[in-house]
Amino acid sequence: MVKNRLVALREKLSPAGIDGLLITRPENRRYMTGFTGSAGVVVVTADDACFITDFRYVEQAAYQAPEFTVIKHEVKIADTLRAVAEKAGIKKLGFEKDVITYKQHETFSSALPGIELVPTEGIVETLRTVKDEHEIDYIRRAEAIGDAAFSHILDIIKPGMTEIDVALEIEWFMRKSGAEGIGFEVIIASGERGAMPHGVASSKKLAEGELIVMDFGAVYQGYRGDMTRTVSLGKASPEQRRIYDIVLQAQEAALQGILPGKTGKEIDGLARKVIEEAGYGENFGHGLGHGVGLAVHEEPRLSVTAAEELRPGMVVTVEPGIYLPGFLGVRIEDLVVVSESGIMNLTSSPKELIEL
Ligand code: ZN
Ligand code: ZN
Repeated sequence: MVKNRLVALREKLSPAGIDGLLITRPENRRYMTGFTGSAGVVVVTADDACFITDFRYVEQAAYQAPEFTVIKHEVKIADTLRAVAEKAGIKKLGFEKDVITYKQHETFSSALPGIELVPTEGIVETLRTVKDEHEIDYIRRAEAIGDAAFSHILDIIKPGMTEIDVALEIEWFMRKSGAEGIGFEVIIASGERGAMPHGVASSKKLAEGELIVMDFGAVYQGYRGDMTRTVSLGKASPEQRRIYDIVLQAQEAALQGILPGKTGKEIDGLARKVIEEAGYGENFGHGLGHGVGLAVHEEPRLSVTAAEELRPGMVVTVEPGIYLPGFLGVRIEDLVVVSESGIMNLTSSPKELIEL
């Protein structure tokens, strides 16, 4: 697995105008090496693959990243990096420009005289967009834990509970069900708070007659799930139901339209058209979806600007929403794998409006 990834990465070095890449983004480090710890940098050239880490992780790295030469760094990582770069004969060292801070850049440039530091973007991220069968299996399991948590929470939710109560119950259930953790802060947004697309759970109490937006995901083997369901506490009003149905219709349109070769923009457009035609275009102010893997938000995007074509093995969310300030929010989110013939939906929770 890691071997194939190294081959794929090495093919990208010379087109990027570099003879080595310094990898510092934690998800990229894990993807390229298999190392699950929280510190270390990776240098890959045509012939070398080095993992530089500190005393705490030397053993773990040797065990988890056997394809890499593991090097314990001295007090300053930059000094060890210089030794590695000089030994590998690197003249142009690429770095991840959206990860390295200004200060780190200063440190590395002064520690690496004679080596040109070249800003790069998205090299490993692009490799990560198409998942292999193991990765898809991990994401499927993470999402299954989310589905189980949703079904569990339906028995628990009642008026008077706070949003935080609901979030904690979901977190606890996911951990008990085998999740390593939560993929992101659980979003529970009830009633008017639903109009905040990222309304993290608050101390607000749930009340009869409210719609509740619940967005959460488990982590399994480092991979994330991500799902949203909106339920009604008590009987939904005709207006609430009408908005819900528009969002559901928009989501179905997008799910049915996904095919390899379509762009993220085209798929976003399928959902957006349904919502715009219903008169709520202004109230769907975010992109339709995003890639999910080791990070909860990664490439590719499904949005008005996403020109990239979808390919089999990409894993994306499809999550249209309508947000009406002072009234409600509705969002429905599934996680799907792009397949040759369309999609494989990893989210199995029901989507008809549930009235609790
Ligand atoms: Zn989500
Ligand atoms: Zn999402």
